[in-house]
Amino acid sequence: MERVFNFSAGPSMLPLPVLQKAAQEMTCHGSSGMSVMEMSHRSPEFEEIMEQTERDLRMLLAVPDNYKILFMQGGASTQFACVPLNLAGLAPSRKVLYAVSGNFADKAYKEAQKLGFYSKCIATTKDDNFDHVPAITEDMVDQDASYLHICFNNTIYGTKYPYVPKTGRVPLVADMSSCIASEPVDVSSFGVIYAGVQKNVAPAGMAIVIVREDLLGKSDEKTPTMLDWKVAADNGSMYNTPPCFTIYMAGLVFRWILEMGGLEAMRDRNIKKASLLYDYLDSQDYYTATARPGSRSMMNVTFVTGDADLDKKFAEEASAAGLKNLKGHRSVGGMRASIYNAMPYEGVEKLVAFMKEFAASNSRN
Ligand SMILES: *Cc1c(COP(=O)(O)O)cnc(C)c1O
Repeated sequence: MERVFNFSAGPSMLPLPVLQKAAQEMTCHGSSGMSVMEMSHRSPEFEEIMEQTERDLRMLLAVPDNYKILFMQGGASTQFACVPLNLAGLAPSRKVLYAVSGNFADKAYKEAQKLGFYSKCIATTKDDNFDHVPAITEDMVDQDASYLHICFNNTIYGTKYPYVPKTGRVPLVADMSSCIASEPVDVSSFGVIYAGVQKNVAPAGMAIVIVREDLLGKSDEKTPTMLDWKVAADNGSMYNTPPCFTIYMAGLVFRWILEMGGLEAMRDRNIKKASLLYDYLDSQDYYTATARPGSRSMMNVTFVTGDADLDKKFAEEASAAGLKNLKGHRSVGGMRASIYNAMPYEGVEKLVAFMKEFAASNSRN
């Protein structure tokens, strides 16, 4: 069976050389005589994997020395709770700010509310069905809040912030699940960056958290131990058994990106891929891109034909042609092509060729 082009939003494609390397080492890693899956997380072999993975991520994202890198279980959704618990647990006002630019941003906002924080939405684009990201200016950011949370790339709607909001002295927290490692980012303009790994980094099973050191130690005593960033930081992300195999796979992906030339090279590749698709979308009127120019994501490209039956037919026929998982999220319909780092240029070329053929042979009423 030949490999397909998998446009899934997550879990999603991994680089083929990474899968091949993992297959090679599947039963016997290095001179250990065992699989990474079978190793003690306290063994020297695994500690080496852990350290190398963290070192490579630090190099890749140019993470400054005053930031900790944590590997935590529970995916990005668990971080929705970790963010208020760790940053506002001891704040007298317990005031936390959110910009609601989509479904995941809204979930994060509601999680803080659920935990009893004074969770305030300062900007939303809900009335426009999240087809762009809000314009956030410093005067909108209450300076007595513990943080402002944004979702940097909105996976479902195919939008991304084209700028980093200025927040004064309020730390900026960003969910980067679907854009981490897709291009260089100035880590120092964020207090916290977190990301579930199953979009652009590894198989599912954990989140990466990059947190400025002075923001640690602000959780109250009732914070569950496993959700406490400081506990994770003090224990090198090994308070308990970490998701060893996922960490190992993340390490192979970081190595692959470094060998490809790092995040500048990734950005160039991603611009090339996304431009091919957006340029085609903008050049015709059979399909419509749903994200407004200026807010468009390089990772998730959303579009519609304007006819739900045709959209359905498109996804089915594309799938039969080896272009998988192009159906949009159930909350927006239409199509979504997730073209993360691992998607080759050739996959997008095939997609655009298919789109042209489909448009030519399926007239719209
Ligand atoms: C996928 C995704 C999530 C949810 O991730 P889980 O790891 O499944 O909890 C959260 N935020 C964004 C931006 C995502 O793309």
